[in-house]
Order: sequence, then C-alpha cells, then structure tokens
Amino acid sequence: MAAVAAPEMEDLRAPQMMCFQCEQTNAGKGCTTTGVCKKSPQTSGLQDLTILHALRLCQLAHVEGGAEAAVRDLVLEPLFATLTNVNFDDARFEQYLKDLAAHIAQLEARLKAGGQAVPAAPKALPAKLPETKQELLAAAEPAGLLARSAEVANEDLFGVIEMCAYGLKGTCAYFYHAEHLLAGDAAYSESERTEVYKEIFRLGNYLAEVNSTTAKENALGVALGECLAVGALNLKVMKMLDSAHTTLLGTPTPVEVTQEQPESPAILVSGHDLAVLHRLLPQAEKQKVNVYTHGEMLPAHSYPKLRKFENLKGHFGTHWGNQQKEFRHFPGVILMTSNCMMPPVGKYRDRIWTCGPVGFDKIPQVEDDFSALIQQALEFKDSVPVPRSGVIPHRKLQVGFGHAAVLGVADKVVEAIQSGALKHVFVIGGCDGTENSRSYFTDLAADTPQDSIILTLGCGKFRLNGHDHGTLAGLPRLLDVGQCNDAYGAVVIATKLAEALKCTVHDLPLHFAVSWFEQKAVAVLLTLLHLNLKNIRLGPALPGFITPNVLKVLNEKFGLKPARLHEEDVDLAEMLKGE
Ligand code: SF4
Ligand code: SF4
Repeated sequence: MAAVAAPEMEDLRAPQMMCFQCEQTNAGKGCTTTGVCKKSPQTSGLQDLTILHALRLCQLAHVEGGAEAAVRDLVLEPLFATLTNVNFDDARFEQYLKDLAAHIAQLEARLKAGGQAVPAAPKALPAKLPETKQELLAAAEPAGLLARSAEVANEDLFGVIEMCAYGLKGTCAYFYHAEHLLAGDAAYSESERTEVYKEIFRLGNYLAEVNSTTAKENALGVALGECLAVGALNLKVMKMLDSAHTTLLGTPTPVEVTQEQPESPAILVSGHDLAVLHRLLPQAEKQKVNVYTHGEMLPAHSYPKLRKFENLKGHFGTHWGNQQKEFRHFPGVILMTSNCMMPPVGKYRDRIWTCGPVGFDKIPQVEDDFSALIQQALEFKDSVPVPRSGVIPHRKLQVGFGHAAVLGVADKVVEAIQSGALKHVFVIGGCDGTENSRSYFTDLAADTPQDSIILTLGCGKFRLNGHDHGTLAGLPRLLDVGQCNDAYGAVVIATKLAEALKCTVHDLPLHFAVSWFEQKAVAVLLTLLHLNLKNIRLGPALPGFITPNVLKVLNEKFGLKPARLHEEDVDLAEMLKGE
C-alpha cells in the first residue's frame, strides 16, 4: 500500500509529482502539483529519474570496486543538481541522464567482460533510456516517490530511507565543492578521496537495492544505521572541504564587511562556491569591475586570498529567500554559484547567470571564462530602483570566526568557562527561509543569557546578525563561523574546547538549535546525530519524511526535539537545564 497519498493529476503529460525533501514542502507533507519552490512536475520527474540513474551508477561502481574519474564526476554534479532550489532546467537533466545511462552501459559491459556478476538494477530503472522527453517523463513515474513508497510499503522505513538519500545528496554537494576547489594534495590525499567515493558508492548501492527489494528484518534499524553512516561520511567530507578552502584561500580571520550602496560596473555573486569567486575576481579586476557578495558568500571576505582583491568591495542583501526583493536593486549582473536559487523574475531575469550544478531554463550558463558576464556588467547602464529599508541596512557585519580564529583565543574562552564568566555555548543557525516562523531563531538568540556565546553559520545568520549581542571574554557574543559548508568548524571548536577542559563534548554546556531547509542541512543534522550530540532543537517545521514513530525513536535515542515556535523561552529554559 502506498505510504503517501496520490495527488490529483493536473497535467497528464507530466508524471505524478510528489516531493517532500525540503522544509517548505506543501503543508509539511509534500508538493504534489508544483513545488512551493516552483519546481514543475516535469522537472521533478526528470530529477527522480536522474537520482535513480546516479544510484545505479553507484551500485555498479561499488560492485566493481573502482572509482574512475568519469564515474566520480557523474555522481556528484547530477545529485547536487537535484537539491532544493538548485536546478530547474529540464534540458540539463536530460543531458545528465544521457551521460549517466552511457556510463551505466559501459560499466555493465565491463563487469560482464571481466566475468563479474552484474547486480540486478532497481526495478524502476528503464532497461534503455528513452529518447524523447515525453517518454522520459513516462519512464520517470516508477522512479518517483509515490511508486517507491508503495514498494517499500512501510511509511516509517520509507521516510528513513529518504532521509538517508537526502543526506547523501547533501554530502555529495559538499564534496562537489571540495573537489572543485582543486586545492591539490595539500588539502587531502588521493587515498582520502578514494575512501570517500567508495563510501558514496556503498551508500548509493544500499539505496539502489533497498528501493527494489522487499524490506528485510530490522530494515528500519539498518536504515537508521545507514543514516548515521551518511553523517559520518559527511563529517569527513566537511573536514576535507574545510581543508580545501584554507589550502586555496588561506585561513579565515575576523573582519568587518561593509554594506554600502554598490557601485557599477558590478557583479553580485551568490551561492556558496568560493572557487568560482576565486576565478572570477582576477578576471573582473582586469576590467575594473566591482564584485559584491550576497547570501552565503558573505564569509568570502574573511579569506585572505579573496580579500586581497581590491575589487571585492562588500556585501549586498541578506539570505537566498530575499533574492526576488533584493536583486532588482543591484546595479549590475548577478552570478548564482550554487544553492539556493529563487526562480528569477522579470526585474533582473535578463542579467542573472548560473554556473556549476545550478541552472534555470533560458538563463545563460558560465564556467571558467567570465568575459561575457563581465562585458554585460560593463554595459549595464539601467537605473535600478532605490532600495527600501532592509535591503542595504548600512551596517557592518563581522565575519571570520572559523575554528582557527576562535581557537586562536581558546585560552581566553577556557579561562572564561573555568571562572564561570562563560556558562553556555549555543549553536544557532543553519538555513534560512521565507517563513515568519523562523523568527524563533532570532528570538532564541536574543533571549540567550549574557554569560553565553552563540556560534552561528549558514544563511540562518541573517536572522541573528542584525542585532547587537554584546561581547564576552573579549569576543563578540555572536560568532559567525561561516557558511553552512563550514559546519565542521563548529564541531572542531566544541571538540577542542572539550579537550582543553579535559572533558568530552557531551559534558560541555553546548546547546543546538538547527534551522533546516534543504538537503545539505539534512547531511549536517545526520553528522550531529552521528556525533551523538543530544537535545537538538530542529525547526521551524519538522521534515515531512520523519514520521511520528521515527521522531519518537530519534527523541529517545538523541533527544531530538521540534522547535517550540513562539515558545522559544520554554525551549531556552530547558536548554539551560541541559535538557
Ligand atoms: S524541493 Fe521542496 S518545495 Fe520544491 S518540490 Fe520538493 S518539497 Fe516542494
Ligand atoms: S544555508 Fe541552506 S538555505 Fe541557506 S543558502 Fe545555504 S543551502 Fe540554501
């Protein structure tokens, strides 16, 4: 029996749509006609089919035991492209599918030629990739969530399997960032890289098989175990990403970032991909084009090898969910380097570009050569509407409190803890979104006692960094650790503080309030659970794929709790008691 109710079909040419991978999913249950993110049923179907092909490729690579470069590339980017608000371009998914199918055929042939058994493909995988879009959409239906949930026939198990898949997709996105920084052997070794790919393939193999076989005994326990395995893998990947960032761009240091009115000619860079910014800055500098950061690119200013470019001028705007409000006021062109992209609207649609896994129908794509985008910035002469209040708050933002900067003053922090001046460390952050209920995190941070510090990260920081939280032990009470990509930094800070205090991380007065939105955040949550960190508040809404039974299990094992919206004071009181 299907675990998820079938939607009304609005468009018979499209596969039945069902997606509940992100926090903004319709009514907390699932998007069934079109995405709240504006993903169409067609794109959703092509994404389902792409994921299934990527899992099949993982399955074959796992059985073969190798990890050739082409297979590696073909797994990371298409899976990244299926994350929420990354890629809305059907043509891109059709191309991914062709590439994946071609490599699947090659690997199957190679296994046969080598006398190895070819594992049975997931039932929903078409024997041959159809050629027309209409046929592809028909083939996508069995790969969709409705068909797969009917096959697993246990909604608790199905939800946990999906959580594992979403976490793996988030991890692949982080690994894509690490691999594309091209930071060389100093960042991480070939054997570390191979180990990560092998685990991605093993987990992909699990997901390919579990979708096509009858649930086995203790399937739920196994699925939860694989979720924690994703968390462990993600921790490793985030460490590698951290190392790749610092190897290529230097160690982040605290810095104040200005938010003045941008000056043309100008390019605004949004998303997370610091490698893209690193390639763009010298090309823009030659043409005397100013570059500004938006959203999750804010921490770019803390890296010495990015900050050294004088044309990296400042920051503009806030989090991804405000793009449609903010981009129209930017006097230049815009480059989306990764998630989260809002569908562009008329006011700036003809001056936005995408790169890497990001895509949108009829929006130009750019990779290493930015000359066309720079030329458009040079030619941009239109006047843009003067921003109303809020878009350019005319304040300075402090960034750069990564693990190196905080641990550089660890003695002061340890002394403050030992003297009783610092009693609690909060980690409040993650993703931001458009719902007003996300003010929970703003209010929680504002209510934290003065004898505490707050580590923040991700675009959730924009809910917090407009407020003066004061100072403690010579540090600002609000410490911006960086992007969601830098969540590893918060783990390092906690681990090192515990070492200095000769206790375990679990003995620290450490409290987590995680604002989640999409699948990178699922990967980070699984990492926190893998580390056995307890009593995490998760919100603003719980994932649609976590059933009440699974929540009960996670609550009993890890103390995971839904954020009590509009009752952050109750949550805070419990947190201060260590609950
Ligand atoms: S990504 Fe989120 S908003 Fe978009 S269709 Fe899926 S659940 Fe809905
Ligand atoms: S923190 Fe999450 S929601 Fe915010 S831009 Fe990054 S991936 Fe998107």
